Amino acid sequence: MKEKLQNLFLGRQGMDELSKTLFWAGLGMTALGVFLPGALRSLLTTFGPVFLILAFLRAFSRNLPARERENALLLGWWGKRRREQAARKERFKTRKQYKYFKCPGCGTMLRVPRGKGKIHINCRCGYTLYRRT
Ligand SMILES: [Zn+2]
Repeated sequence: MKEKLQNLFLGRQGMDELSKTLFWAGLGMTALGVFLPGALRSLLTTFGPVFLILAFLRAFSRNLPARERENALLLGWWGKRRREQAARKERFKTRKQYKYFKCPGCGTMLRVPRGKGKIHINCRCGYTLYRRT
């Protein structure tokens, strides 16, 4: 039996992070939808199973490069979210020593020491801000 199961997944994608996410999201949506009234219920009990089907279609897919690309998109997005969260935490922790400005030119976060009065802040992209610290 175990061997049969293994053969089933031979050359197929299997459950990667994206499929697992789709699976749990689909299951959660379906389960939640059952307890909700009206439009929300039909919305969740329609799209929940669609997510579940997508999860299984991806798991049994033989087009590995395409599935790998989709999964990489999710992992990249997760990584970005984690980095942004870490940066926010760091800014909060050091908010007494440093003041943060977002560069209007390129969107980079600029960190300057507090209590220096009005200063010019030069960004790497060539933009100069004149701000009170
Ligand atoms: Zn800049």
